[in-house]
Amino acid sequence: MIVRKSAGEIAKIAAAGAILADCIDALTEEAAPGITTAELDRLAEKFIRQHRGVPTFLGYRGFPASICASPNDMVVHGIPGKYRVAEGDLLSLDVGVTLDGYVADSAVTLPMGAVEPEAQRLLDVTAESLEAGLAECREGRRLGDISHAVQEIVEAAGFSVVRSLVGHGVGREMHEDPQIPNYGDPGRGPRLEEGMVFAIEPMVDAGAYEVVVADDGWAIHTADGSLSAHFEHTVAVGKKGPRVLTRRRSERSGAGA
Ligand code: MG
Ligand code: MG
Repeated sequence: MIVRKSAGEIAKIAAAGAILADCIDALTEEAAPGITTAELDRLAEKFIRQHRGVPTFLGYRGFPASICASPNDMVVHGIPGKYRVAEGDLLSLDVGVTLDGYVADSAVTLPMGAVEPEAQRLLDVTAESLEAGLAECREGRRLGDISHAVQEIVEAAGFSVVRSLVGHGVGREMHEDPQIPNYGDPGRGPRLEEGMVFAIEPMVDAGAYEVVVADDGWAIHTADGSLSAHFEHTVAVGKKGPRVLTRRRSERSGAGA
């Protein structure tokens, strides 16, 4: 069942989302060749707690850190640690913030220094596919319209969408109904209604879409070793259009991805 949130609940998710957006902007400023993912994790936890939030991921099903940090061929769910970011890396950072009992979820993939043109294209296409999915979050559309919009952009660019990982409802819990695949047929699935809140999150591989789980039981890699990118926003379905609840200042000013 898809739970619709009241205006008051959406305001609380938006408050969590504002902290989350600023946290990702702070991480973006610090993330550069030479830093370890553990250092980024500590920075994120400190930032979230200073703003009276709680890092949603910490302890979630036993996850040992406040963020997921997933470089290069790692798609998602990387545990921050000793990995030292290198020039040319793609680094995905996924963050969840709980505030006053409500959850927001967002992710970005950052180029570390100068990256290969094809890697930059992967970032641009994945970000574009997220925007296309968000644009479908309006009353009267169907869930499949979101999935289809993402898939069309990704596959037209020659990349693939990961099949086994999906977006989701969010708000009272990190993972709520419905599951939102990044592929599917338009005009199918539940009709979208005002007050539904979703985490839309295309995970896009430069190669094939198959993935494998690492020995730590968390990190998910592309099976063929190709690069992967991941962008995510929390969005409220509106009568006339989407309301993105995790939009970063850097995006609004056009200064960053
Ligand atoms: Mg996330
Ligand atoms: Mg998510």
